[in-house]
Amino acid sequence: MTNVPPLDLTRQYEIIREQINAKVQDVLASGRYIGGSIVDDFEKQFAKYIDVSHCVSCNSGTDALFLALRAVNIGPGDEVITTPFTFFATTEVISAVGATPIFIDINPQTFNLDIQQLEAAITEKTKAILPVHLFGQPVDMTKLMAIARQYNLIVIEDCAQATGAEWNNKKVGSFGDIGCFSFFPTKNLGAFGDGGALTTNNPAIAAQVRMLKNHGQSNKYFYEHIGINSRLDTIQAAILQVKLPYLDSWNQQRRDLADIYHKFISGISAVVPPQELAGGRCVWNQYTIMLKSQELEATAKSRFSSSLRDWVRAQLQNKGIGSAIYYPTPLHLQPVYKSLAHRQLPVVEQICHQVLSLPMFPELSTPQQEQVIFALKDSLQEL
Ligand SMILES: *Cc1c(COP(=O)(O)O)cnc(C)c1O
Repeated sequence: MTNVPPLDLTRQYEIIREQINAKVQDVLASGRYIGGSIVDDFEKQFAKYIDVSHCVSCNSGTDALFLALRAVNIGPGDEVITTPFTFFATTEVISAVGATPIFIDINPQTFNLDIQQLEAAITEKTKAILPVHLFGQPVDMTKLMAIARQYNLIVIEDCAQATGAEWNNKKVGSFGDIGCFSFFPTKNLGAFGDGGALTTNNPAIAAQVRMLKNHGQSNKYFYEHIGINSRLDTIQAAILQVKLPYLDSWNQQRRDLADIYHKFISGISAVVPPQELAGGRCVWNQYTIMLKSQELEATAKSRFSSSLRDWVRAQLQNKGIGSAIYYPTPLHLQPVYKSLAHRQLPVVEQICHQVLSLPMFPELSTPQQEQVIFALKDSLQEL
C-alpha cells in the first residue's frame, strides 16, 4: 500500500509535459516575458470558454476580487453580503477596499451561502452580493440573481474553486456583473505559479479593471486612479493556453471520481456525502464529506477526547491517506473580524467541526480511491 496524497500536481504535468515544455521554451526564447499576444489570446480563449464578452487577466484570484470591487466603486460605508465559509481572500478584499462584509449562514447541503437568508440581510447600505461557488459547487444563480435585480445590487461571483462549473448549463462567472477566477496551481485550471482573471459582459467594467490593474493608467504615463500592478505573466498564460482545452475532460474525471465516492460512501451511516442541487454541475475542486453521528461523536469524545472528524482524520493519516479541513474556523469568528457585529451563524459554526475533504484530483487512480474508501470504513468500524 502506498500513500494517497490529498492532491498530486506532478501527474498532470507528466501527461502534458512535452506541450508545456515546448510552449514555455517558446516564451523564453521570445524575449517577451510580460504581456504580448499569448496573454491577449488566452484572455480571448478564456472569455469564449466562460461565454462572456470580456476577460481581463491579473496576478491572482485575490487581485481579481479586489479589482472587481474597486471597478464598481465599492468602498467605505458599503456592505457586501457574503459567506463565512470560504477562503479568507474573499472577505479580505471587501475589508481592504474599506467596505464591510456581512456574513450570512450557509446551506448545509451545498456549503454555499443560504439564499433563503439573503433578503433579511439587505440594508440601505448593501451594495453587492459576493457568492462563492465553494468546492466547485455552483450557487443557485437563478434565485440569487432574481434577488439582486429586485434590490438593484451588484453581483461579484467568486469562481476561484469552480472554473467550468455550470448552473442550468451556463458557466459560473457569466451570471453576475463580474466573475473572479484564480489560477493558483491547486484550482481546477491551475497555472505553475500565481494567476487570475475577471470575466464580464460589461465593457465599461472591463475597461475600468484594465486601467486599475495597470496603476490606474488610462494613457501612457497618465494616471486617472490609484491602481495596482497585477499581471498574468506570459509564461503562466502560455501554460494556461495548453491546459484550457483539457479542462472539461479533467472536470469530467473529477465528476466520475465523485460518483464513485458517492456510491461507496452513501452507505456509511456516519458520513454525509456532498450532493449537487438539481440544475447544478459541480466540478469538485474538493470532495468534502461531513462526519455526523451523535453516538460516534460521543464515543470519540469519551474514548479519545477528540471530535469524530478529528479522530477519523487521524486514523486516515495513520493509514497513509491524506485529507484536509476546509475550513476549520468560519470567517465571522476570525480574530481580525472581532470588532464586527455579527449574528450567530449556527449552521456553519457546527459544520466547520464536521467537514473533511478527501483526496480529489483528476489523476487519482481507482486503486488509490478504493484505499481511501476502505480506510474510511475501517476507521469508523474501529470506533
Ligand atoms: C484560491 C481562492 C481565492 C484566492 O485566489 P488566489 O489566486 O490564491 O489569490 C479566492 N477565493 C477562493 C474561494 C479561493 O479558493
